[in-house]
Formats: sequence, C-alpha cells, structure tokens
Amino acid sequence: MAHNEAVDVVLVGAGIMSATLAVLLKELDPAIKLEVVELMDSGAAESSNPWNNAGTGHAGLCELNYTPQAADGTVDIKKAVHINTQFEVSKQFWSYLTRKSTFGSCKTFISPVPHLSFVQNDDGVSFLKERFKTLSKHHAFSDMEYTEDKATMAEWMPLMMPGRPADEVVAATRVMNGTDVNFGALTNQLLKHLTSAPDAQVKYCKRVTGLKRNGNGWTVSIKDVNSGNSRDVDAKFVFLGAGGAALPLLQASGIEESKGFGGFPISGQWLRCDNPEVVKHHQAKVYSQAAVGSPPMSVPHLDTRVVDGKKSLLFGPYAGFTTKFLKHGSFMDLPMSVRAGNIGPMLAVAKNNMDLTKYLVSEVMQSMEQRLDSLRRFYPEAKAEDWRLEVAGQRVQIIKKDPKKGGVLQFGTELVAAKDGTLAALLGASPGASVTVSIMLELIEKCFPNKTSGEWAAKLAEIFPAREKVLETDAALYRKINVQNNVALELVEASNETESYA
Ligand SMILES: Cc1cc2nc3c(=O)[nH]c(=O)nc-3n(C[C@H](O)[C@H](O)[C@H](O)COP(=O)(O)OP(=O)(O)OC[C@H]3O[C@@H](n4cnc5c(N)ncnc54)[C@H](O)[C@@H]3O)c2cc1C
Repeated sequence: MAHNEAVDVVLVGAGIMSATLAVLLKELDPAIKLEVVELMDSGAAESSNPWNNAGTGHAGLCELNYTPQAADGTVDIKKAVHINTQFEVSKQFWSYLTRKSTFGSCKTFISPVPHLSFVQNDDGVSFLKERFKTLSKHHAFSDMEYTEDKATMAEWMPLMMPGRPADEVVAATRVMNGTDVNFGALTNQLLKHLTSAPDAQVKYCKRVTGLKRNGNGWTVSIKDVNSGNSRDVDAKFVFLGAGGAALPLLQASGIEESKGFGGFPISGQWLRCDNPEVVKHHQAKVYSQAAVGSPPMSVPHLDTRVVDGKKSLLFGPYAGFTTKFLKHGSFMDLPMSVRAGNIGPMLAVAKNNMDLTKYLVSEVMQSMEQRLDSLRRFYPEAKAEDWRLEVAGQRVQIIKKDPKKGGVLQFGTELVAAKDGTLAALLGASPGASVTVSIMLELIEKCFPNKTSGEWAAKLAEIFPAREKVLETDAALYRKINVQNNVALELVEASNETESYA
C-alpha cells in the first residue's frame, strides 16, 4: 500500500498566526519538517492583509475599551498592562529576527506613529483624566501626556481641531512610543525567512478539506484549487491558523474540545484617504469611545497607515453583518457551521444580542453621507472627495456554551487545543495580530510541554529575555527591554542612554 507524505507539522493558512508559529518552531528545532497550506495564491490574503486590519500595534496606549471604568469611577488597567507586555514580547521576537540575514528589514513592517485617545463631553473627560491618573503611574505608561488645552491638541492632531464649536469639552492623551504595523508585509517576510530553511514549505492555492485521526497524529486532506487534485499528508501536529475559517476545520477534527463552539461573523468597512495634502496633517492613531450599546470592535479611530512606504489615513471601522467566515468565503459558512452541539449556544446568543444584530444591520444600511458624518465628529472639515470606502477583513467572534445564559458571545481570542496536544486552533479576532507571538508561545507551552521545559528552554530564553509577567512588575527590566526593542526595530535612534542598556 502506498504511504502518504509525512511531515512533523501542518499549518493551515498563511496569515500572521501560522507564519509566526512556523518560524518559532523552526527556530526551536531546525530539523523539524513543516508545511504551510494556503488556499489563496499569496500569504496574508485575509485578515492579515494591511488593508483588512487597522495595523495598530496594540499596546494598550490608546484603546479606551481596554481600561473599563467601574461605577465608583475607578479605572481598571489590568488588560491594558497585559496587552502592552504582550506587544513587547512580539517586539522581542521581531528584534531577534532582524539579526538574521534572511529576514529582511524591519522598516517594511513597523513604523513609529504616536497613539492618542480623544474624548468629548464631561463624562468622557472625567473618564480620560482618571484613566491617565491610574495608567501613568505604571512604568509601561509613564511617558503618557494628558491635555485639555485645545492649542496643545491642535499641535497633536492638526486635522482634528479646526471647525469645532468653541465651547466643546474635549481632552486627549498622547504616547509618542506607538506603532503602525503592516502585518501583511511582516507575514510575507516571515514566510520568506521560513522557506529559506530546509524542510519548510509554503503551498499556495491548496485548500485543506478534511482532517482524520491517524495513530498519534493526523491525516490532512489537501485539494489543489486549480486542478481539483487531492493529496493526503500525515502530520504529528496540526495548527488550524485559518482565521475565520478555523471553526469549521476545528469541527471537522471532531476533538472533544471543539464541542459547543460557534462563530458570529462581523464584517467591516473603512474610509480611506490617500490625498498627500490631507495625510501630511495627521501623524497619529487617534482612538475614541464607541457609541453607547455598540460592540468593542466599533470603537472609531483615525489612523496614519504606512503601507509599502506610502502614508494614508484610515477611518472606521464601520461594522456589518454577513454570514461569511472569510472575506473570500461563502455565504453558506455560518449555516454550515451549525451543529447539534452548538445550536443551543448560537440560539441563546441570537436571542440575547438582538441589540447587536440591529446595530450591525443599521451600520450596513448607512449611506456614504452618514459615514462621512461619523468621520466629521473626528475631522470636522473632512471633504467627501478625499475619502473612499474600502472593505475590511472578517472577524468571527466566538460563541461559547454558558451554564447560566446557554451561550455567550466573546470578543477576544481563544486557543483551543486537543488534550493530547496534537492539534490546536485559534478562534476569535481581538486584540489579534499584535499579540500573535504571546498566543503562539502559549500554544507551544500547551502542545509541546516536554520540550519547553527541556531542550527548547535555552533557545526560548535567548529569544525572549523577558516574558509578560516580569515585564508587568519589573520597571527597570521593562525599560531596558523596551529600549532594546525600539532600537533594534529602528523605532528610535540609538542614543548614549540606549547604548548603555544594549
Ligand atoms: C477590521 C479588522 C481590524 C483589525 N485591526 C487590527 C489592528 O489594528 N491590530 C491588530 O493587531 N489586529 C487587528 N485585527 C486582527 C488581525 O487582523 C487578526 O487577528 C490576524 O490578522 C489574524 O491572523 P490569522 O493568521 O489568524 O488569520 P488570517 O490572516 O485571516 O489568515 C488565515 C488564512 O487561512 C487561509 N485559509 C482559510 N481556510 C483555509 C483552508 N481550508 N485551507 C487553506 N487555507 C485556508 C485564508 O485564506 C487566510 O490566508 C483586525 C482585524 C479586522 C478584521
């Protein structure tokens, strides 16, 4: 009997998640044999594409929904601090890779862009003030500046201040040390670096159509989307990094841990401006507050984007409802994902989230004029002719069983792994690409526990001199690592002070 091809690891999808995991595994074990299987004809064709996401290097510097306010007015900064240190872990990995000749320049994917928060009205201002007071005491946010002075704001956000009523109550914070990340360029650099090593392949125009248990591993069925030919590959470990389409593949695996999960797809749109006369007046990512009752991913922001060496502005996102799990997916994705095990949670979420559904439908029905009105709350003098509508990537939010409510909708990400560690999938979308490295390190610890405590430990310590927990509490170490990363990624110039840390 003919045997299937065999590799150690199959990674489904060539987005930022699979690309990161593949490179990490190859660093830890250069002899590992792996194959990335992608249905499109290039890497980063879905959510990781630079125009399908906002490219914010999420570090908790400006995202107001990471710091919820309690009824007594206090602001909880735990999530912002954690995401900040996760982003420092991502930066450590990218800094490590920039020392390799096959990885290329960091300038193609990461650029310094200040991160600002902007609020209107008395409630917004008192929240931002309290947030600033609490956050700026933490070493990760000690450089944050706060102002209620309109002249200062006009310096920070020259596009956003003209045309506002004189009596408008506004405030802003600024952190200069923010970034814009082209996750598409990063993904493709990772994939190129990966395939410069032996026994690492990326196969495009190939769809993973099925998964079957095979002894201690899996047989993965792969179909060529052009010829229709199929082949089977045996793998000891499978990663389902298929973005929104990870859920149906997880269901196809039949693992116990997949039961009860459902997906709620949310589409998105942006307004984009490439007019250099407008673009040159805004050098920031400015995040504000979501409208009351709207979901966290609808937080409006006006962003400088740096893609392929050119600057643009992006405003949005405007959310929408669709039944597709991928931008290039099928309208049958959602109905086909309904199973006996998840219909209960899905119906409970549909019943308990009518407001969200109504909100999404109203967003879809908006006219261009209504979209421009939202933009003008940020940039009062925006001209229609400078802006065009772009379709963003899909986010498939997680639906999970809940003992009390039957089912709940979750806006974060969830790593689902088989008990025996032979398969893992990443569900959900937020905070996403910025924290990929932390998520993939968690996967490696879950699925390769013997190796991380043994032969891989020294290499992990070399790549990651400081992980999230210690960065959260050790101010001196945080500053040292942060400066080293910023110098290695060319976000700041090496100065005498930074050299003393190196
Ligand atoms: C509107 C929006 C804004 C966002 N903004 C930000 C942001 O500012 N900052 C941030 O950090 N993150 C952001 N994110 C999140 C971020 O984009 C995602 O978390 C990240 O790109 C997901 O990467 P991935 O590799 O899991 O998925 P993807 O990039 O979607 O890649 C999945 C790949 O799998 C392939 N695939 C699917 N099914 C199969 C199959 N059966 N066989 C073979 N291949 C398959 C797809 O073609 C695709 O290439 C945003 C996301 C959206 C949608």
